[in-house]
Amino acid sequence: MAQNRIILYYQFAPITDPVAVMLWQRALCEKLGLRGRILISKHGINGTLGGEISAVKAYTKETRQYPGFKNMEFKWSEGGAEDFPRLSVKARDEIVAFGAPDELTVDENGVVGGGVHLKPEEVNKLVEERGDEVVFFDGRNAFEAKIGKFKNAVVPDVRTTHDFIREIESGKYDDLKDKPVVTYCTGGIRCEILSALMKNRGFKEIYQIDGGIVRYGEKYGDKSLWEGSLYVFDKRMHMEFTPDTVTIGQCERCSAPSNKFENCSNESCRELVLLCPECATDDAKRRCVPECAVDRQSAHAGIS
Ligand SMILES: [Zn+2]
Ligand SMILES: [Zn+2]
Repeated sequence: MAQNRIILYYQFAPITDPVAVMLWQRALCEKLGLRGRILISKHGINGTLGGEISAVKAYTKETRQYPGFKNMEFKWSEGGAEDFPRLSVKARDEIVAFGAPDELTVDENGVVGGGVHLKPEEVNKLVEERGDEVVFFDGRNAFEAKIGKFKNAVVPDVRTTHDFIREIESGKYDDLKDKPVVTYCTGGIRCEILSALMKNRGFKEIYQIDGGIVRYGEKYGDKSLWEGSLYVFDKRMHMEFTPDTVTIGQCERCSAPSNKFENCSNESCRELVLLCPECATDDAKRRCVPECAVDRQSAHAGIS
């Protein structure tokens, strides 16, 4: 049987014709039998794909032919095309939907005015030197931190990336404006933008982790500043860096340890619920909220 892999990648680079790049990328992926998701905007590309190793390698080689993508790094992990329902390649206003397409500036070196990039060992050095003063700021959707996060991290109240600007302008985090703040997210892409948005709003000392949690976990596992599992946006739903990862998540119904999110039992709802295997078998417990009904708008009216 052929060996399969998943790749995760992004590159901030000025793209004058995102639609042309989208069509080229779609044709390339179709030719190679890859599945996954790619977004392209005038600021760059963001993708995750799965397929046979030889096809994925051919994809990376071909994609690096585009001048702006020449130095793009691809993160490889276990998995394959079957981890994705289909291939989706789209051109959008933003490669990460912060709702700030015109605030972001990108040049040939990437995002202009972002946080200082730290390698995993530099993150630990910063904490050794500055101790409790250092604040970790979660750049993901809040639910992801239920199963894993940096120890003592601040987890903003964010349901989608669109909520970040409201959060950082809310005043809730103004005491962090003079502190060293390390933003982090799964692969580093969100923090490229988030760190720039925070700096624009008066946060003075902002850092971001090169390669995000994925790279940090490869270096330190969960033996250092990271604890728990990592939520991933494919069928696997979560991954662990070591065999003895501590399960920090709790079933939302019975508080038993869990790191597995389940889809709400209302099929027209796309919310996830963190459940233990036993509660997951019960349709009533597998509701995101007890009143979640067919009409998602009314069920979630109070939340959004
Ligand atoms: Zn349970
Ligand atoms: Zn629901």
